[in-house]
Amino acid sequence: METRQANAVKGYFGEYGGAYLPPELIPVMEEIADEYETLRRTPTFMEELQEYYTHYVGRPSPIYYAGNLTEQIGGGPVYLKREDLNHTGAHKINHCLGEALLAKHMGKMKLIAETGAGQHGVALATAAALVGIECDIYMGQIDIEKEHPNVSRMKILGARVIPVTTNTKSLKDAVDAAFEAYLQDPVNQFYAIGSVVGPHPFPTMVRDFQSIVGREARSQFIQMTGRLPDHVLACVGGGSNAIGLFSGFLEDNEVSLHGVEPSGKGFKDGEHAATLTKGTPGILHGFRSYLLQDKSGQPLPVYSVASGLDYPGVGPEHSYLKDIGRVKYTTISDEEAIKAFFALSRTEGIIPAIESAHAVAFAMKLAKENTEKTLLINLSGRGDKDVDFVLRHYGKGYL
Ligand SMILES: *Cc1c(COP(=O)(O)O)cnc(C)c1O
Repeated sequence: METRQANAVKGYFGEYGGAYLPPELIPVMEEIADEYETLRRTPTFMEELQEYYTHYVGRPSPIYYAGNLTEQIGGGPVYLKREDLNHTGAHKINHCLGEALLAKHMGKMKLIAETGAGQHGVALATAAALVGIECDIYMGQIDIEKEHPNVSRMKILGARVIPVTTNTKSLKDAVDAAFEAYLQDPVNQFYAIGSVVGPHPFPTMVRDFQSIVGREARSQFIQMTGRLPDHVLACVGGGSNAIGLFSGFLEDNEVSLHGVEPSGKGFKDGEHAATLTKGTPGILHGFRSYLLQDKSGQPLPVYSVASGLDYPGVGPEHSYLKDIGRVKYTTISDEEAIKAFFALSRTEGIIPAIESAHAVAFAMKLAKENTEKTLLINLSGRGDKDVDFVLRHYGKGYL
């Protein structure tokens, strides 16, 4: 993607964010930003979204005290924000519905997106079916073969799944193909970004759509326990589920916030996706943030057992929150995440997404060291999508 700075004021979090775009996209992105700014202040739009959250997604999602897990750890009490109970099984529906509604209000004909493991594709195809708008999902041929149930879901929901057969036939090539298709007609199409990444206004807008999680969680936690949690944790891929929960507690300085990145198999290049822990500032996909990049600024290959976490960038607001020290970013390995995946499944009867299991794993360490402190984890999604993979690759040690 050609990069050129377009927006020097709006959409910055400290030195991060912005909109580094090819010239033909600058007016398009500005129009989306303006329209969002207007609709955000329009009661009917926000009410429509809230109606869907309540009656379609099933919000508010509960907070659950994981008493059995707490007992097994032998530490401070652990609570879960149950985003896994949302319709479609994860937090992504919160922002996909917002984006689909915005696209519809702007008169766009079609939603476009890429998908890796298919989670964003399924959430977007769901939102597209609901609001009645076409949906094209670009997906690498290799991922299509690997993630068959999600491909079937998207097709049943009425989306077109377009196989990408160039280069590595996976996520990065799907991003390029989707972006190219978007450039063909940015006026009638809407590129629905899957996290708090991309050019302004997406990091702000997706955060706003996810902030429902933090608002609910703060008041639910106080209602349940009479006070605020001491530690709030979430896994970080692009950073949308984390910023959604954190946004409810940013002003509460007594609450410690922890973002958990995947250290995968270790810290060699290509074996992890711990962007904030190991990266350096740079520009990718239209915004400035911490990146895993080589000396010439090219994104490095990334890996995590959780395909929703393997992105070489991260939302710009997280980069800012790291630099000012408001959020601490730490890492959890594949092995630790799998251990937490089984621990939660077997103590509570809740199978978490492998992504969410990273946050659970760090909470297990933290709870052990802080027996007097309360912990709140964003359980960003359910693990149905992961069960076959986990049994095939890790079943031996656990069955
Ligand atoms: C996609 C996904 C993530 C990672 O995305 P963020 O934008 O970092 O939240 C985490 N958990 C689940 C269940 C996901 O599907």
